[in-house]
Amino acid sequence: MQTASGKISLTMADITTLEVDAIVNAANNSLVGGGGVDGAIHKAAGPQLFKECRRIGGCPTGEARITSGYQLAARWIIHTVGPIWRGGDEGEDDLLACCYRNSLILGRQYGIKSIAFPAISAGVYGFPMERACRIALKEMKRFLEKSSDMEIIAVCFSNSAYRYYQDAMQEL
Ligand code: ADP
Repeated sequence: MQTASGKISLTMADITTLEVDAIVNAANNSLVGGGGVDGAIHKAAGPQLFKECRRIGGCPTGEARITSGYQLAARWIIHTVGPIWRGGDEGEDDLLACCYRNSLILGRQYGIKSIAFPAISAGVYGFPMERACRIALKEMKRFLEKSSDMEIIAVCFSNSAYRYYQDAMQEL
């Protein structure tokens, strides 16, 4: 999908293998690693990532922090903490949108030109995938309309995620 200044693309991949300037991690508040994509990123980046995350000391939900990518092909990792799904009436949509927005703003500050996102909160945190994909794409598009010539890649880890993203692209 081409926008005024940048591009959004969709790919089925293990995010840890991508050759981009930055990959985004669906982290938890402590930033010291967990399961899912977080565990995969820590495993692939190596133990120095854990040390840097521990030094940062945590991250509030909806915000983002940046570290080096260490053993990854990606130079940077942007860690953002998605909301845990609690039925939808506790500001989950807005917090999820903040994750994408704050990650992209941080990326722009670091001169990042290509960035890959997993479907934040749509795994263990229980956010409904279809809704999460729509929010993600909306924020990506909004960011590219206003600024920067970034390439944003939405990484799907399942066929259903891919389908939801495709549908959302058609809607927007
Ligand atoms: P959260 O706790 O924010 O829900 P999860 O890691 O459980 O985070 O899941 C977030 C999304 O990342 C899910 O859609 C999951 O399928 C996907 N995912 C898990 N591992 C990978 C990976 N290696 N590459 C890309 N996406 C992944």
